Amino acid sequence: MAIREILTYPDRVLRQHARPAVDPASDEVRQLVQDLADTMYDAPGVGLAAPQIGVLLRVAVTDTRWREEDESPDLKVWINPEISRREGEAVFEEGCLSVPGIYEEIKRAASITASWYDMEGNRHTADFEGFSAVALQHEFDHLDGRLFIDLLPPIRRQLLKKRLRKQKKQQMQST
Ligand SMILES: [Zn+2]
Repeated sequence: MAIREILTYPDRVLRQHARPAVDPASDEVRQLVQDLADTMYDAPGVGLAAPQIGVLLRVAVTDTRWREEDESPDLKVWINPEISRREGEAVFEEGCLSVPGIYEEIKRAASITASWYDMEGNRHTADFEGFSAVALQHEFDHLDGRLFIDLLPPIRRQLLKKRLRKQKKQQMQST
């Protein structure tokens, strides 16, 4: 069990492009997935991407069920994911462990087709809709250095960024 520190805005690592995991079945990836899962469940959150714990590899985990009542954990692992189709529009309120305290309605594709590798090195392709589709778009964006606040209208985004920088400064002064 290893709970890692979650990097928060405006940490520059969050803005970098992650590189593909050369061998999805490697011990390195297995350890990373374990740390991501431990850190996500501890936070708690419904998704976490490797750059959020400072690892620039294209790996993310999600579990969009476990916080609902009577649902047991259902960890999903996404290695080198790609989205090949985006359709429609859906608006969900999103938050992010790397942008604490901010929840905003974000417009994304309502339906996607994604491909990814599992930890045995097998490639999968499937369609996703609704909250799952939104959660995947959010997590995969992290692998390209994008945050959900980037998708806000410019004026709203500027206000939030100012607020977040101020928050961070106050935190740093008080620790
Ligand atoms: Zn996030």
